[in-house]
Amino acid sequence: MQLAVFSSKPYDKLFLATPRATELDPAAGIEVIYHDFALSLETVPLAKGATAVCVFVNDILTEEVLESLHAMGVRAVLLRCAGYNNVDLDAASRLGIFVANVPSYSPEAVAEFAVALIQTLNRNTHRAYNRVREGNFSLDGLLGRTLHGRTVGLVGTGRIGVAFAKIMNGFGCRLLAFDPFESDEFKKYGEYTDLDTLLKESDIVSLHCPLTDKTRHIINDTTLSQMRQGAMLVNTSRGGLISTRAVIAALKRHHLGGLALDVYEGEGALFYTDHSGTIIDDDELMRLTTFHNVLVCGHQAFFTDEALREIADGTIRNLADFVHGRPCKFSLVQRDAPSPGGLKRRDSAPIRI
Ligand code: NAD
Repeated sequence: MQLAVFSSKPYDKLFLATPRATELDPAAGIEVIYHDFALSLETVPLAKGATAVCVFVNDILTEEVLESLHAMGVRAVLLRCAGYNNVDLDAASRLGIFVANVPSYSPEAVAEFAVALIQTLNRNTHRAYNRVREGNFSLDGLLGRTLHGRTVGLVGTGRIGVAFAKIMNGFGCRLLAFDPFESDEFKKYGEYTDLDTLLKESDIVSLHCPLTDKTRHIINDTTLSQMRQGAMLVNTSRGGLISTRAVIAALKRHHLGGLALDVYEGEGALFYTDHSGTIIDDDELMRLTTFHNVLVCGHQAFFTDEALREIADGTIRNLADFVHGRPCKFSLVQRDAPSPGGLKRRDSAPIRI
């Protein structure tokens, strides 16, 4: 069988081809075709001949794309990421396409990156780095705040949220969280509250919930105005959680004191590709990069050696389960046991990803 890997980078090839990943299923005899562009309606014909496609965060699997894939004989979608907001699971279910993700790969990698963003913004090390390279050792404008004793609000206390809570607890911060599903693990480090109180009391708000219809633009004009004057907002989760227009307005009126983004709602057109020789046609993103108190990274919080290894292993394990018709622990659209060949959506954990 053929596996078509979309949005592939040299590091994907390296990790998917490492012995640890392939040894999981040496008998499958899978031919892997790598495409360095994203899967979309325009590129879907390139999946011809494949039985399975392997995709990442910015590949778009709408109903139309899934129907095309199905018509070409594709029967499995392997997400080499946790989030699946880019896949129409209902359409996949209707078409009988197996979909599986890698729900957990080094949550610490993402949590540690969120902390790195906070400390960079909080202590202005991004500005200090540039100054020192130009022989400017002035401290004017670099004044920070000690994290110890500050209140940090977490929106979402799943795997990454809890890993983040452990670290921030170590800094001596007071932790508040909002999550419709409370975690006993989080309760070791902080207390749950409602979103309004979290926004009102936090010096730093960090987003760790998935992007769903309910959470899209959870940070908007109203919720931003509920935040403390000068508070910092951190998003390592999904770009669509934040209204970019609203954060720009809040930064311009000096209400939002800092913004650290690893993800951006318009990232699909830009991230993971070098655009340095072109004119970037995204005025909101360009405006964001002009604020001294805004950091934007290109969706790299997951990007550690350990996480890439776990992603590759999880992806190949999901593929092996599909190939051998085994129950797959991480399928989002599951084989329906009573009717062979039929598939159904996994509903056991509808909003956890
Ligand atoms: P998880 O499923 O373990 O946890 C998500 C938590 O969010 C759950 O506890 C869930 O109950 C909670 N939640 C759902 N709706 C909510 C709401 N309306 N308000 C508050 N909380 C809500 O997921 P995780 O592994 O911790 O990952 C969190 C997010 O991080 C993922 O959604 C993914 O999009 C993102 N992520 C980003 C990167 C990166 O490189 N930047 C890497 C991995 C994951």
